[in-house]
Amino acid sequence: MQKITIAIDGYSSCGKSTLARALAHKLHYNYIDTGAMYRAVTLFAIRKGLISIDKPLEVDLLILKLDEIELHFELNAGNHHSDIFLNSENVESHIRSMEVSNCVSRVSAIKQVREKMVALQRQMGKGKAVVLDGRDIGSHVFPKAELKIFMTADADVRAKRRFDEYSSKGQYFDIEEVKHNLLKRDQEDLNRSESPLIKVEDAVVLDNSELTREEQLDFVLKLIADLHLISKEEHPQH
Ligand code: C5P
Repeated sequence: MQKITIAIDGYSSCGKSTLARALAHKLHYNYIDTGAMYRAVTLFAIRKGLISIDKPLEVDLLILKLDEIELHFELNAGNHHSDIFLNSENVESHIRSMEVSNCVSRVSAIKQVREKMVALQRQMGKGKAVVLDGRDIGSHVFPKAELKIFMTADADVRAKRRFDEYSSKGQYFDIEEVKHNLLKRDQEDLNRSESPLIKVEDAVVLDNSELTREEQLDFVLKLIADLHLISKEEHPQH
């Protein structure tokens, strides 16, 4: 079957990475979690004292220090997930904290940060056979992706999912705080001037408020099968 690029964009905590990972596993594709990349840059900025929950981002200093940041993914043999490395350190368990979640949209709004991340993402995804999830994949990183999905879900469902994820790691927050954080992040991602979150015209909307993981995977696999059918009809000799 022809290898394609699959772009999954959408709101915070919609289960984009769960679906993307399942798809990559099923199709033997690479998975690139672009949110993890922005989170790793944010962790770097927090550690350097350039931002905190109460401190505005020191934009110029972060831009000056961007060259000090090296990011890559490595397969984790234990859970078969790709872990993100920041300057040779596996930071996977540090980037999902509430502190990073509270700061990441301010960091990801910076043009120079985005340019660096997008260049890396294009490099990593250039061979196709790849699933990427984020906010600007179908609109900016790979606008020619053969399949674009735009994910959304009810805000209470999303907050509950993220709350459960935190709780399973022994991190306990008020569910209203979790909901507030993700809605705030959505607003910041939707309203920034650099590559804001948008649903592009050729994206298929997937509202998974009431869908199981299997149903979501089946939905996308069906879209892929249809895509291949269409391309066969257009090129019947192949
Ligand atoms: O997907 P995740 O929630 O981990 O993303 C964290 C943040 O990274 C988002 O809220 C957004 O600010 C930023 N992001 C982005 N563009 C992407 C992926 C993530 O701006 N392609």
